[in-house]
This record gives sequence, structure tokens and C-alpha cells, in this order.
Amino acid sequence: MTSPAPLPSAAPSTAPTADPDGAPTQERAFVGSLSPSRASDFKTCPLLYRYRSIDRLPEPASKVATRGTLVHAVLERLYDLPATERTLPAARDLLAPQWDRLREQEPELAEMFDGQEEASSWLESAVGLLQTYFGLEDPTRLEPAEREQLVEVVVDGGLRLRGFVDRLDISPAGAVRVVDYKTGAAPREAFEGKALFQLKFYALVIWRTRGVVPRQLKLLYLKDGDVLTYSPEEQELERFERTLHALWEAIDRATQAQDFRPHKGRLCDWCSFQALCPEWGGTPPPFPVALPIVPAAEQPVADD
Ligand code: SF4
Repeated sequence: MTSPAPLPSAAPSTAPTADPDGAPTQERAFVGSLSPSRASDFKTCPLLYRYRSIDRLPEPASKVATRGTLVHAVLERLYDLPATERTLPAARDLLAPQWDRLREQEPELAEMFDGQEEASSWLESAVGLLQTYFGLEDPTRLEPAEREQLVEVVVDGGLRLRGFVDRLDISPAGAVRVVDYKTGAAPREAFEGKALFQLKFYALVIWRTRGVVPRQLKLLYLKDGDVLTYSPEEQELERFERTLHALWEAIDRATQAQDFRPHKGRLCDWCSFQALCPEWGGTPPPFPVALPIVPAAEQPVADD
């Protein structure tokens, strides 16, 4: 059940900001909230953004996305082990217990499979992603500073930016590297555009919270072994912040007008809402009379 909540341009809410160590320091007003995923939704298709962030319609669990969550969990736990024990067999041994944990949290995940045989072969398919990971990095030589870290900041104008960073490495000299694992598949051109947007988003949040522009942002594609790196500049991040403000203003205008238009494209093939989409012969439900008390855009979302 949801409770009435103000539209995005209504009275600001408050949220803690963080000092360079991540500790809350003060309450600061915010007018809206964006994660890389929700911002990308709006850029890709405003109606998709509406269904996820305003209507908050449920979406069926996907085997590909769940496998991504599982592999992320294994790679996070791998770094709990002493450095010399971070081997591929050790990572493989983490798969079953992490899958048990995910099913405990969301029992409906087990319903994705047509029997135990299919579930076992799906679990085995995650091993290939781990193998690729070990071909890209040697975890015995790394000591991450943070893993699965929620990063957030309220920038000037009151826009809150937040998201999960898979891994943060900090060199003895203080240079910051943000690492993100990608396990899903999508059309290449759309994927790269979204990835670059996501990297800039994280770079901006890290810069604004820690006062340091990350030296490198690195995406590891575990499906095909691709690596995408990016070294941001301060001025570029200032421009990107203005872009996010403009994006939020567009979302706010669409919300006030209750007008989120569909944008048909290749990502429609992965969209859960075709039956409710005018581009596919569907009819959108009435616009919600009140927004959920915590719009989905404010919730941290794993960006895979
Ligand atoms: S089916 Fe395509 S156009 Fe329709 S809501 Fe989904 S992404 Fe947008």
C-alpha cells in the first residue's frame, strides 16, 4: 500500500549529506532524486521511467538479471577471503550459498525455473562469468577499499544523486578507481552509451562526496571479457552535473503534465511493459493520483 506524497517539485525533503569518509554530516534539502538506472530509463523512454519510478509496476524476475545479482554477490564475498585464497574454485564454491541466500530473501526467484535441472544448469552458467573475471583481474593482488557501496550526494539546487558502486580501490597515494562489473547483455551501442553515462554519474558523486576526481573508472564485461575505462576531468563533470539538472527538470515537467511519452527502440525487446505501451497496441493505466511515498528514483538500484 502506498501513501500520498508530494510531486517532485513540491516542498523539498531532507537527506543527510556525507563527509569524505562517508559519515553523515548535515541535513540538506533535496527536490528530487536520481540513480544512473532511473536517469537512463527516462533518457531511453520516458514511459518506461514512469512505469518503474512513478507507477512502480512489478516486473517479472529475469534469469539474466538474477544471475548478474548472484555474480555480484560472489565477487563481493570473494574479497572477504584472505588474498591468497581468492581463487576461481573458491569463487565457484561461493555460488551455491549465495544463491541460497538470494532465494531466502526472494523465494519467488525459484519459480523462474522449470525444475531442478534447469536451475542447476543456470547456476553452472554463472561459472563462465567468474572465469572471465579471473582472466581480467587477479584478486589476490587487490585490496578494495569498499564493495557494494551506496554513494549519494545532494548537489547544488537540491538534486540528490545516488547509486551503488561495485568496488572502490584507493591507492596508497589516494588515487581513486571505481570498478563496475557488467554481466548482462544488451545491444552494443545502447549499452556503451548507458555505461558511459553511468560512469560519469559515479565520478560526479565520488568527486562531490570525497573531493577527489576519480583517476579511473573501469567497467568489466564478464560476458565477453571487454574492459571499458574512463578518466574523467573536473570540467567535464561540472558539465555533466548541469546535464543531470536539465534531465531532472524534464522529469519534473513530465510529472506535472502527467505526460510520459513512449520512445520505441531496440530496448523495447527487454521491456516488461509492452502490454501497457501504446507503441505496442497497449493502453497506459491512469496516472497515479499520488506518488508513492518513496519514488523508485530515490531507491538505490544495482546498475546491471
Ligand atoms: S515497450 Fe518500448 S516504448 Fe513501450 S514503454 Fe517499453 S521501452 Fe518504452
